[in-house]
Amino acid sequence: MAHSPFDAWITGDDEVTSLLAQEWTRQISSVQLIASENFTSPSVMAATGSIMTNKYAEGYPGRRYYGGNQVVDEMEDLARRRLTALFGAEHANVQPHSGANANVAVYQALLNPGDTILAMRLDQGGHLTHGSPASITSKIWRFVSYGVTARSDDPNEPGEIIDFDNVRDLALKERPKLIVAGATAYSRQIDPVIFREIADEVGALLMFDSAHPAGLIAGGSHPNPTPYADAVTFTTHKTLRGPRGGAILCREEHAKKIDSAVFPGQQGGPLEHAIAAKAVAFREASQASFHTYTEQVVANARAFAAALAAEGFRIVSGGTDNHQVILDLRDFDAELNGKVAQEVLDRAGITTNRNQIPDDPRSPFITSGLRLGTPAQTTAGMKEGEFGQIASLLARALRQREDEAAITQIRTEIGELCAGFNPYANFVS
Ligand SMILES: *Cc1c(COP(=O)(O)O)cnc(C)c1O
Repeated sequence: MAHSPFDAWITGDDEVTSLLAQEWTRQISSVQLIASENFTSPSVMAATGSIMTNKYAEGYPGRRYYGGNQVVDEMEDLARRRLTALFGAEHANVQPHSGANANVAVYQALLNPGDTILAMRLDQGGHLTHGSPASITSKIWRFVSYGVTARSDDPNEPGEIIDFDNVRDLALKERPKLIVAGATAYSRQIDPVIFREIADEVGALLMFDSAHPAGLIAGGSHPNPTPYADAVTFTTHKTLRGPRGGAILCREEHAKKIDSAVFPGQQGGPLEHAIAAKAVAFREASQASFHTYTEQVVANARAFAAALAAEGFRIVSGGTDNHQVILDLRDFDAELNGKVAQEVLDRAGITTNRNQIPDDPRSPFITSGLRLGTPAQTTAGMKEGEFGQIASLLARALRQREDEAAITQIRTEIGELCAGFNPYANFVS
């Protein structure tokens, strides 16, 4: 069994070592197309597995509730400085354990229970923390949801983009205290300027949830919402390619409230090992090579969308401006749903997730769509040509899904393709 270079220190625990080895093999021998995943650098992994995990540091640099935080304070300050510089922000909080925590902390800081939030509908691309009935957010605040424009057959205006007339009408009618921009399954750029204009028209605050495009923004391949938003939240592990975690940027006027909402409002001790790894990732994202990376992520997604359209899939919104491609499976095969497609592709070595598409007639558990993303395989070095090959293997697997021998053959071809693109090739002894 293959061993990753990162589990060398784990001795005497055969069960854990064996599972790590299995996961290592899975990640490097199959194609990772989950839009929210990436391959972090060995430096990020080293910091995540570092000695900082041993330290309790409730509070903030210079104001901790425990002793022994001289070095930890410097580390967290370094992460905050690198992050404010990266996005041109006035204030940064690097403690949120996840993107979901970061969102709830902003709501908690800027709103009172019962206040109205205008955010994107879940079945059109919004996130659970944008008011899902299953999320605590909908029990504390009152959500009103905007959606995307209707689908059209005009190739110049395919529709399924954020409906700003709908956003403005709802904002005027409902007078939300906060407007949330940002999505989890949406393949277009989101214009922060229009959102700011609408927020100003109705006297609302604006939060930009950049969980997905944070890396594209840092790399300069996407517009930066920081100058327009009262707060920007994001995850550090998606396109930004850092450790699992969240972060918040905000205007100085909101800094104190937001810091208090994260700690002690929601969390206890921060994960200082994750904060060390965030610092590493913020530095990596500030280098010219990261710009080259994010440009390739977008170019790969465009090529992937075009190749998938040529295979007979309908691309939601007609294409992509970012790292995502959202497929409507119904034109390709009316019988095929997202759940079955995801399972077939898993067996073929192609890792994806099913996703609802706008006005999906099927349930969120079944769905008519797949969400695909290019960040991870682009990190592994794949370019437009490889994404063309993946599109054809993906379509073949779905066409021949009843034929086990055909799926096995595709699994072999995927393995051969991945063998040339091991993201950690330079680090394996
Ligand atoms: C991924 C995501 C989040 C939440 O991130 P977690 O780290 O999984 O909690 C929040 N908002 C959006 C838009 C996301 O895509």
